[in-house]
Amino acid sequence: MDNFKESPEKPVLQSKTLSFLSKKTHNTLLQQKAASIWKYHMTNKRKLDSRVTLEDLILASNRVSAVIESVRGTMLAPDARKRPPSFTTNQVAAICGLEKAQMDYRIKKGELPVGNMESGFRRRFSLEETRTWAQTERHKYMRPKDAEAITIAIANFKGGVTKTTTAVTLAQGLSLRGHKVLVIDTDPQGSMTTLFGLLPDVDVTDEQTILSLCYGSELSIDYAITPTYWSGIDIVPANLALYSAEFALPSRQKSESNFEFWNVLNHGIDTARTIYDVIILDTSPSLSYLTINALLASDGLIMPLPPSTLDFTSSGQFWNLFNDLAANLVTNRGKSKSFDFVDVLLARVDSNDASSSVVREWITAGYANMVLPVEIPKTALTASASAEFGTVYDTDPSTINARTYRRAFDAYERVVELVEEQILTAWKRQRGEQHGA
Ligand code: ADP
Ligand code: MG
Repeated sequence: MDNFKESPEKPVLQSKTLSFLSKKTHNTLLQQKAASIWKYHMTNKRKLDSRVTLEDLILASNRVSAVIESVRGTMLAPDARKRPPSFTTNQVAAICGLEKAQMDYRIKKGELPVGNMESGFRRRFSLEETRTWAQTERHKYMRPKDAEAITIAIANFKGGVTKTTTAVTLAQGLSLRGHKVLVIDTDPQGSMTTLFGLLPDVDVTDEQTILSLCYGSELSIDYAITPTYWSGIDIVPANLALYSAEFALPSRQKSESNFEFWNVLNHGIDTARTIYDVIILDTSPSLSYLTINALLASDGLIMPLPPSTLDFTSSGQFWNLFNDLAANLVTNRGKSKSFDFVDVLLARVDSNDASSSVVREWITAGYANMVLPVEIPKTALTASASAEFGTVYDTDPSTINARTYRRAFDAYERVVELVEEQILTAWKRQRGEQHGA
């Protein structure tokens, strides 16, 4: 059986045909076809005239989409949906800050979910159950009734500095500690959306993104809130159509009086602030209209920064540009803006790279106490393809090197802990303001 249209000299992979095949056949055929294309590529000298037409590009783009869909099918078997992790008694006890004996006592009392017995003797708790435990045992860390969600933007206009990974990991860590989290993907590339198991081009309609908010047909993002595989985290996803916000916002600024393009998201999340405990905004690697919206909607800012010279210098440019913008949009209009916290997170730190310790010194000299006292190690954890569909909280530790996993996991846990402390302080500040302190 060959469902592929193939010319004798150049193999062609037809994406439309692929979707009719069963997942298994599909993947095997995909592998065979990829091997044949590779062999062709390696054994045939490239023609001098290797012009590419627009039609060639459309074909390539279709093929890439087919491969992505197929790969998701393989990695997220059996039904291409992400599944939340489950937790052992020890893990739940650690999240709740309980000793094992205290945990056993509470299980006996039967006031909290008791999990499922696995092979008759090991207890396993679902994500929902674990969150119920966290909310009960960590009640003093939960959002006070009269406080609002703390909004945190993860930003840096360099790509590949682990913004998206940080956003998702933080959302999962905070949710595991009992908080109700909303994540908003403001990057048209939709990497965060993908990490939540939704393919931007396939699973997300334009109406599910913040686009309608940017066009002004909606005033609140409530319409776009979508549940995720991770109970306790909802998402406002993104897809490529979100790029048009970069035209819509400046055009509205010209045509609508009293319009403030930089406050669209800030006002759009007002209702969500009363429903969620934390709102996390992932941003694109540019100081775009959408990123400006994210920054000005936020109470806290986290800038992941690998200790490399280029990343350090570009972070300086980011703040220069941001300061200019803030002066234009805020200060010069007689308004003010402050953040509850701004954190620089040393990310993807390679302990074998001699230069990184020098750059780390520059970072500390420049950002002083904004630098979080933790480093996220560069790890092979995410180097495996399937792990790219998840984070340390999604990864089953038994599938990878235990030490590598532990280092990355502990570092992220510490980040979550430090951010939670700042969230608690921000809630105190909010309540102080309400009570006129
Ligand atoms: P950004 O959103 O800033 O572009 P991403 O979060 O998408 O960055 O991360 C960029 C790449 O780095 C991804 O391939 C991701 O899997 C990888 N990555 C994330 N964290 C780490 C880490 N601690 N060590 C090594 N690679 C990482
Ligand atoms: Mg990203």
